[in-house]
Amino acid sequence: MSFPHTRAAVLSIGDEIALGQSLDTNSKWIADRLMSLGVQTVEHMTIGDDEGQTVEAIRRLARLAPLVVSTGGLGPTLDDLTRQGLAGVLGEALVTDEDALRTLEARFASRGRAMSDLQRLQALRPMSARMLPNPNGTAPGLHAVVRGLDGVGAADVYCLPGPPGEMKPMFEAQVAPGIRLVPGRRVLTRFIHLAGIGEGDAAARLGSLMDRARVPLVGITASGGILTCRVRYEGMLGESEAGALVDETDAMIRAALGAHVFGEGDATAVSSVLNEMRAKGETLACVESCTGGLLGQVITEVPGASSVFVGGLVTYSNELKSLLAGVPAGLIAEHGAVSEAVARAM
Ligand code: AMP
Ligand code: MG
Repeated sequence: MSFPHTRAAVLSIGDEIALGQSLDTNSKWIADRLMSLGVQTVEHMTIGDDEGQTVEAIRRLARLAPLVVSTGGLGPTLDDLTRQGLAGVLGEALVTDEDALRTLEARFASRGRAMSDLQRLQALRPMSARMLPNPNGTAPGLHAVVRGLDGVGAADVYCLPGPPGEMKPMFEAQVAPGIRLVPGRRVLTRFIHLAGIGEGDAAARLGSLMDRARVPLVGITASGGILTCRVRYEGMLGESEAGALVDETDAMIRAALGAHVFGEGDATAVSSVLNEMRAKGETLACVESCTGGLLGQVITEVPGASSVFVGGLVTYSNELKSLLAGVPAGLIAEHGAVSEAVARAM
């Protein structure tokens, strides 16, 4: 039976995340990837390393969404309980996967290391589950189909390792190719970036464009002084018709907010400035103080920055502000280093 992945839920497992010691970047990454593959994530859930909670969480999320992706808890230590949790949900015993065991043994042998019994646990899988190879670490992932208690409804549950360097390649190789959209269903998204306007003002100008029942849907996110308008079409129209709808909404957004739009898609404020300067044949240098080089850092992060950016000075002390940037000492004495006058002089 193959059911479509109409929506997804993401589960993050680990005490360090539940307790606030480390940030759950996996869920953000997975939901973002799923979105670009056309599947909307409807819930993120975080739990500690607890077998009972893992069972409860997978069971609930599998009822909520036909695609569940978890990360964490697959390692060889006693607090790694995801495989037991999945077995609990399935009501199955854990069995040794001979292929996975051989792969593990080979991995340890090739490194000249002995394999402990704990390491061996990583070759266990619930009876009906499938191992997902992990070329970047020891713990394989798991995939199982969880059916509702009444036999109605089913979910593909993918359990991936916690380390992002193992999780991401496994997602691309094992999860992404298995995604099944509703036949004919199309999801198109476009991101339009704005600066120099607040979220409330932008929403007021967009007016009924932000109606939640509108197709395509328009949303706004504010982050670090930048606003992003999301245009999202989801429906059964053909590619060109859906594209035309998104183009039309895009044009309406630009008509309402045009002067504030600086780019779309992967463009950032910095990359847009650099592109514009490059087009005009201009170059850029910076003098920084309190930011300690941050400005130069965000500029040089952009591929191709070297054709515009010539370099920067970090003049942190008053002496260097005068010596390297030629700021008159008197100006600093009069206004203080952190002042508009000194910033302008720099
Ligand atoms: P585990 O698979 O539970 O052994 O996870 C091992 C490591 O993966 C953790 O110590 C974290 O460094 C990392 N990790 C686990 N979960 C996450 C997450 N949700 N986001 C980012 N890193 C994670
Ligand atoms: Mg863990």
